[in-house]
Amino acid sequence: MALVELRDVHKTFAPATRKGVPVEAVRGVDLTVEAGEIHAIVGYSGAGKSTLVRLVNGLESVTSGQVLVDGVEVTTLGQAALREVQREIGMVFQHFNLFSSRTVWGNLEFPLKLAGVPAAERQQRISELLHFVGLADKAHAYPDQLSGGQKQRVGIARALATRPKILLADECTSALDPDTTREVLALLGRVNEEFGITIIVITHEMDVVRTLAHRMTVMEAGRVVEQGEVAAIFAHPQAEVTRRFVSTLVEQVPSGSELESLERDATGRLVSVDLDADSSQADVFSTLGGHDVSVRIVQGGVNRVRGASFGHVVLALDGPDAARATQAVSALTGVEVLR
Ligand code: ADP
Repeated sequence: MALVELRDVHKTFAPATRKGVPVEAVRGVDLTVEAGEIHAIVGYSGAGKSTLVRLVNGLESVTSGQVLVDGVEVTTLGQAALREVQREIGMVFQHFNLFSSRTVWGNLEFPLKLAGVPAAERQQRISELLHFVGLADKAHAYPDQLSGGQKQRVGIARALATRPKILLADECTSALDPDTTREVLALLGRVNEEFGITIIVITHEMDVVRTLAHRMTVMEAGRVVEQGEVAAIFAHPQAEVTRRFVSTLVEQVPSGSELESLERDATGRLVSVDLDADSSQADVFSTLGGHDVSVRIVQGGVNRVRGASFGHVVLALDGPDAARATQAVSALTGVEVLR
């Protein structure tokens, strides 16, 4: 069963001033997040990602549509029942949102006290959490005395304190350097694997999606434009916005000005070979082997996402037999003749 489900959800914010216009932040979104998965919500700033997660944890109410968390329709709940649902959801923020006047221990104790957890149990849980995030020696430090990565590890420990089923992470690595980002992503991966916690990550960083997520939803102007397995979307992004995101990490088959510059620089025929089309590589190379051509790789590469390899290479075919060789490979699966 889906742990989080959105059905035709709309959220329109009223204008801030009398002359202002309403903002349709979320427009008819359908989304399911299965128990145990890590789901990335991807989009440029203003796409509606944060609003979407605020609808999931009931911090905003929908204009229309339904939001179900663990089978409970959040949209219709009263305050007390909503708090019950919110206890199932931990939040991790970009800027950590720690209490600067409390120690690490105090920051972790706060949600446990709010939830009415008895002192002895609080003590044990905080100690376990600090070990889990590798900060047992920092229990009495204040946030100012910690690095960004350490602060985020405290943020994650705090989010886990009340044993939620779901973790919502909103741009939680955007303020961190690449090494620290990797550290935090590895920790989130362990949270998912060791505790089975479902994670929804909001991000505009494709490296985060590639490293962490199983499935992804791409949003643009309040709408879902693409949704599916990360490996499949990275291999064959469909929507223009998805292609732009994926191209920050994965080289796309050249087109437009990139193709023009390649055509200027490389001599001979240009063919693109899709590396995840079954058997295309072997067929292409054995076919080329039967012709008198020189073959150079001039663009592309192999990528790996969650154990799946994909990508493409552009080959420049030169020599007396280049035209016939190009024609022979053009009939094979996954081959596109660029010139
Ligand atoms: P993202 O997280 O993808 O950057 P947001 O969900 O924050 O996008 O915002 C989507 C749109 O909704 C933006 O145009 C934003 O200005 C608007 N918005 C978000 N929150 C509010 C609010 N409380 N009041 C009015 N407009 C809002």
